[in-house]
Amino acid sequence: MKEGRVIQSTGKWYKITADDNTIEARLPGKFRLDAKEVTNPIAVGDYVDFETENDGTGIIREIKERKNYIPREATHGRRGEQILVSNVDRAWVVQSIRKPRLNTGFIDRFLVTCEAYEVPAGIIINKKDLANQKDLRLLEDKSELYENLGYEFLSTSIHDKESLLQLADQLKNQTSVFIGPSGVGKTSLLNAIDPDIDLKVNEISSYSNKGKHTTTFAKLIALSSGGYIVDTPGIREFGIVNIKKSELSLYFPEMREPREHCKYYNCTHFHEPKCGVVEAFEEGKIDPDRYHSYLNILETLPDY
Ligand code: GDP
Ligand code: ZN
Repeated sequence: MKEGRVIQSTGKWYKITADDNTIEARLPGKFRLDAKEVTNPIAVGDYVDFETENDGTGIIREIKERKNYIPREATHGRRGEQILVSNVDRAWVVQSIRKPRLNTGFIDRFLVTCEAYEVPAGIIINKKDLANQKDLRLLEDKSELYENLGYEFLSTSIHDKESLLQLADQLKNQTSVFIGPSGVGKTSLLNAIDPDIDLKVNEISSYSNKGKHTTTFAKLIALSSGGYIVDTPGIREFGIVNIKKSELSLYFPEMREPREHCKYYNCTHFHEPKCGVVEAFEEGKIDPDRYHSYLNILETLPDY
């Protein structure tokens, strides 16, 4: 028995890396994952034990416990918890300061999903070479805000070596996901820190362009420095799923203590009297932009 990691899946076959080799593996007929209620028992990112057949293919015998996962539902809005990718060390939301303009609402929605799924999060604000004095002050403010909340924060530019080294250092030997709107520089950043990655990414997109497969499975792309970047075809944003209005504040780290002081156990920290969160906000302990994001997200959640 060998141990490996699933880096790609077609739903039927799984590509596994083990000791720098890649093999195709499948599940034995009656493989069942014990308590986990998932449609697809093996996910990209899973660590597995497998045996090798005479023809060189593998048979997966066991799946190791997942540290965390990002559900496909968060990205496609479907019901039934399917896993997009598992064992993620950090999910990064990528934005640019200009072209397109920084959108903190996007960042805050992303962070809520990461909190809900216990995926460590980071923020990359790219194109800092385009920042004017006012933008630079904004970057300072946001970096202080988000770092104080416990998130990694990088401001980068493909023209700033130092920032690329910092990014490379963060991705080294980690499994990382990049999520962000198109045009912010995700591809450029990855190319800048790992010139070999270009080919690997293009290989995948031309493959899917030919329409050979319609489902969008994630894929792990190996970085030259060690670690993986998750290629998530067509995925630009995490949606917010399965969160009750009264639970949303659990996913805003700065609201966790104040919400203990609310009069009502199911307080939504919006219109209710004697609300600890509103009090903290009025005392300047909660950032106005963050509270604004909170209210925006609250509005989109179902009333139950
Ligand atoms: P993606 O859609 O997020 O993958 O974005 P791309 O990597 O395709 O970049 C979109 C555009 O922004 C391209 O024209 C890049 O050359 C440009 N770009 C990327 N990073 C930077 C940066 O740090 N500074 C500036 N000025 N332009 C950048
Ligand atoms: Zn409250």
